[in-house]
Amino acid sequence: MRQKIVAGNWKMNKTLDDALALASELVGMVNDEVRGDVRIILCTPFPYLVPVIRLVGSHPLISVGAQNCSEHEWGAYTGETSAPMLASLKAHYVILGHSERRQYFDEDGKLLAAKVDAVLKHGLTPIFCCGEQLEVRDKGEHEDLVRRQIEEGLFHLDADAIKKIVIAYEPVWAIGTGKTASAHQAQDMHAVIRLHLATKYGKPTAEEISILYGGSVNADNAKELFSGKDVDGGLVGGASLKSREFTEIVKSIL
Ligand code: PEP
Repeated sequence: MRQKIVAGNWKMNKTLDDALALASELVGMVNDEVRGDVRIILCTPFPYLVPVIRLVGSHPLISVGAQNCSEHEWGAYTGETSAPMLASLKAHYVILGHSERRQYFDEDGKLLAAKVDAVLKHGLTPIFCCGEQLEVRDKGEHEDLVRRQIEEGLFHLDADAIKKIVIAYEPVWAIGTGKTASAHQAQDMHAVIRLHLATKYGKPTAEEISILYGGSVNADNAKELFSGKDVDGGLVGGASLKSREFTEIVKSIL
């Protein structure tokens, strides 16, 4: 059975005090209101990982993740943070290949494949992002592009390793724009991704992989967006910065 997941991507937001207040409100709301099988992941900025991990403790539903990591393990890479460092903090997830990293930091398939390997080697779970720009969808090339992103970043993995990946389909035109894919568009692309995984790894393996939708998910649209049979939850940006709204989004997957 694949895991239902709602992950919050806090991006480059919040002071330390505000981050701790948000995490603490969320833990309280989840304790009071969330019953069921869902993994909630808080992907915080690097400096807040340790305090948020301490605050969350060994919570049964909530884990903490990073938003990026280096493909290198150690050494002279000023400003970078590596997978073994994240593992030593007891972070459990790492977002890789977010469209903002692809766009502003030129992250390509080859680099992302190396980051995926580094993250898996140290026992963390990659949340691997893919998704097309509007002009690609307008040309009808969105399915090909997403299949290619998955091939470049993930298809070097064997069947055991691919099962450890979480995929997030995030159409770039829906990220931070208030414009979501329709539930139909989300389900269609998730089915394309799962079929592509099945073609390479077999259907039973593909069925085990959680595929999240991301792009302007909020408390009002989450239930519908999560209703597709291949949509296993969401990767949430802006709405993850508000404890009430994020909790409502979590509840809508149950
Ligand atoms: C994201 O950053 O992954 C994201 C989906 O952002 P938003 O929910 O704000 O569109």
